[in-house]
Amino acid sequence: MANSKKCKHSACSCMAREGSDYCSQYCEDSKGTTSLNCHCPHDGCSGHV
Ligand SMILES: [Zn+2]
Ligand SMILES: [Zn+2]
Repeated sequence: MANSKKCKHSACSCMAREGSDYCSQYCEDSKGTTSLNCHCPHDGCSGHV
């Protein structure tokens, strides 16, 4: 149960990586910005357009 947090990117629906608040480098780099879509490399993400 070490990896049960959701990614903190506002538009991202993925689970965060272990030891991080974000699922990917993309999301981590996006912190502090308000983005309506997500470009992380995960296929299941609902933030993709
Ligand atoms: Zn995402
Ligand atoms: Zn994410």
